[in-house]
Amino acid sequence: MTAFPARAVVDLAAVRANVAALRATARSAEVLAVVKADAYGHGLVPSARAALEGGATWLGVAQLEEAFALRDAGVDAPVLAWLYAPGAPLDRALTARVDLSVSAGWALLEVLDAARATGVTARVHVKVDTGLGRGGVMPRELESLLDAALAAQAEGLVDVVGLWSHLAWADAPDHPTVLAQAAVFDDAVALAERRGARLEVRHLANSAATLTNPAMHYDLVRPGLAVFGLSPVPHLGGPADYGLTPAMRVEAELVLAKLVPAGHGVSYAHAYVTPTETVLGVVPLGYADGVPRHASGSADRWGGPVQVGARRLGIAGRVCMDQFVLDLGPDATEVAGDTVVLFGPGADGEPTAEDWAVAAGTISYEIVTRLGARVPRIHTGTTTTQEGAR
Ligand SMILES: *Cc1c(COP(=O)(O)O)cnc(C)c1O
Repeated sequence: MTAFPARAVVDLAAVRANVAALRATARSAEVLAVVKADAYGHGLVPSARAALEGGATWLGVAQLEEAFALRDAGVDAPVLAWLYAPGAPLDRALTARVDLSVSAGWALLEVLDAARATGVTARVHVKVDTGLGRGGVMPRELESLLDAALAAQAEGLVDVVGLWSHLAWADAPDHPTVLAQAAVFDDAVALAERRGARLEVRHLANSAATLTNPAMHYDLVRPGLAVFGLSPVPHLGGPADYGLTPAMRVEAELVLAKLVPAGHGVSYAHAYVTPTETVLGVVPLGYADGVPRHASGSADRWGGPVQVGARRLGIAGRVCMDQFVLDLGPDATEVAGDTVVLFGPGADGEPTAEDWAVAAGTISYEIVTRLGARVPRIHTGTTTTQEGAR
């Protein structure tokens, strides 16, 4: 136990089971578990190991540093990284056997330099902008990028092992852009194969497309959020509808419970004023820990949901940097040291990350990924391999 009076308890057994469920959904496609952003706040290395134990055969990260952290921890599986700027340490990426995404001519040139410098053949996934309007080479520039990459492949500098893209509207499986992007992707694959690429993996699907759209699965699916048991499509179904269990529970100990009179202003700017004599409880988590300030309560409305014993309460007044306040009611029996639950799987009546997303006007992705660095992550459900790797 650390001295910090709150924690995120991450159930690695849930991560393993979620990946097993995703694997079944993906059928013949392999699963690349996306573990960027500290595994969506769940802890990079333990989560990555659990995902691999659950049946993922690849890992994906945005940043090279994230890939290096996996390798430094001894994680051996194929890793794809896709976000780097000119001058990035691609030589280190190659010696660490990290697959690299290439979206532009400058990136290919830097990959080739790194391959020459290290003597390692770079494994490259060419990314195409099929319509997201973010990363990826535009389709009309694909042929020249591919030809340059395949010429370098003939010299032994690179292997073009993948072609990939990302969807703009995966959470709306019937949206016309989904089929339009898939058509552009199919054309890109056909072009790559005509130009002589021998693609190991073609991949397009994030969590939403993995769960709702089998036509988008291709050879490899890239779920992130669903690995951690949250639904990327809450308007279509919750985690249980997709065989998923949220892996994270965030809880804290009350640091103070005290009786105050009616009409007592609570927290900054007195956005809440006690309607009666009541007991206030102080929770030692604030916006520096990822509790969204947008989930503050107001005079006539409680904010973000919290479970206290069997009761569902909401934040009273403003969320501060390190703490927020609950109105526990006139008859409250809670005392300092009692545990409150901000969110969890929901199985015991506690709120979920999705409930917090609704309370803060955001998505569950942001709730878990913004959990502050100072909140300890406690991993449960470890296997003997994970114990041994500590
Ligand atoms: C983050 C990310 C994913 C995973 O997205 P989820 O919606 O969390 O499944 C997949 N592919 C790319 C390119 C990403 O950036």
